[in-house]
Amino acid sequence: MSVPFSSLGSRVALVTGGSRGIGQAIAVELASAGATVSLTYRSTPVGADDTRKRIEELGAQCLALECDVTDLAAVEAVIRQTLDHFGRLDILVNNAGTTRDKLLVRMSPEDFDVVIATNLRGTWNFCRAAIRPMLRARWGRIVSLSSVVAASGNPGQTNYAASKAGIEALTLSLAREVGSRGITVNAVAPGFIETDMTRDLPEGVVEGMRERIPLGRLGAVEDVARTVRFLVSEEAAYITGQVIRVNGGLG
Ligand code: NAD
Repeated sequence: MSVPFSSLGSRVALVTGGSRGIGQAIAVELASAGATVSLTYRSTPVGADDTRKRIEELGAQCLALECDVTDLAAVEAVIRQTLDHFGRLDILVNNAGTTRDKLLVRMSPEDFDVVIATNLRGTWNFCRAAIRPMLRARWGRIVSLSSVVAASGNPGQTNYAASKAGIEALTLSLAREVGSRGITVNAVAPGFIETDMTRDLPEGVVEGMRERIPLGRLGAVEDVARTVRFLVSEEAAYITGQVIRVNGGLG
C-alpha cells in the first residue's frame, strides 16, 4: 500500500476541543499518521476519554487535559504539561470553537464577548503559549479552524463570522512573523460539515444546504481532518499564510 504523505512519527500535536466533532476526527487522523497527541477538552471528559481510547488503539500516545481556551494561564499550563510529558510540541491545531447565533437586534453583548473570547482570543492564547517551543526548535505547524462564513457572512452570526475573520487575519500576520523560523501558520475554513450540530437540524434545512453545495453533499469530519493532516505534513512545508476552504465548492 502506498503512503500518501510521510509519517508524523516523531511529532507531538496538540488539538484543542478534541472531545468530539471535527476536533476528535483531527486528533485521530494525526494519531493514525503516527503523531503523539495532546488534546484539550472543556467539560466532557467522556468524549475526551473516547478520543484517547481510539488513539491508543492505533498504537499512539495521548494525553487528555481539561482547559478553558479563554484562560491564558490554563492554556500555558496545558503547553507546560505537554512539554513535561512528551518533551516537545511540533503541531498546534486550534479547533475549539463556539456559537451563540442571534440576529444583531437580539444579540447581547455577552453573546458577542463569549464567542470572540472563545474563538479568537482562545486561538491567540494557544498561539502565544505554543510559539516559544516552536521558535526554539525552528520547526512548527499551526492550523486554526475558520469557517466559510468568515468570507461570506451569515445572518445571525455577526459574532461568529467576525471571530473567524479575525482568526484568518491572525493567521496571515503570524505566518509573516515566524516564517523565517521554519514555522507555517494556516487556517482551514470548513463549509457545512456533518456534526452533532447539523445532525439536529430539520431535514428541510439540511436539504436546503445540500442544494447549495456544488459537490452535492455535506462534508464529513474526515474531509476536514485529512486537510489538516496535509497542512502539518513535511510535504506542506512551502504553504503558509493560507486559508484552505473545505466546503464542497460552496461560494
Ligand atoms: P463542536 O461544537 O462539536 O466542538 C467544539 C469543541 O470546542 C468542543 O470540544 C468544545 O468543548 C470546545 N470548546 C468550546 N468552547 C470552549 C472553551 N471555552 N474552552 C475549551 N474548549 C471549548 O464543533 P465542531 O462542529 O466540531 O467544530 C469544530 C471547529 O470547526 C470550530 O472551531 C467550528 O467553529 C469550526 N467549524 C465547524 C463547522 C461545522 O459545520 N461543524 C463549519 C465551519 C467551522
